[in-house]
Amino acid sequence: MKINGLKKRALWENIECCCIKGDIEHTYPLSECNHCKFMECWKSVPQKDFKVNNDIVDKNGKVTKKQSKTVKEITLVRGSVEDIIGWTF
Ligand SMILES: [Zn+2]
Repeated sequence: MKINGLKKRALWENIECCCIKGDIEHTYPLSECNHCKFMECWKSVPQKDFKVNNDIVDKNGKVTKKQSKTVKEITLVRGSVEDIIGWTF
């Protein structure tokens, strides 16, 4: 998997975690913690090649051939603190 838009250190990584270890009520996701929120977004980025449905359809939208393709490259979409808001392929 090739990931476009990687950064050595994104801005959001400078936001300190404000969770209290062992205290579930003060730990993300029950408490608001931007660090953990952005970390979760980052961890949702696929690290390995994956397959997507790529069926061939005719002009009426009917599937004429079932096939899939392997996605080997994605591009990260970043927000205001370089957090991951999505990715495209
Ligand atoms: Zn946290």
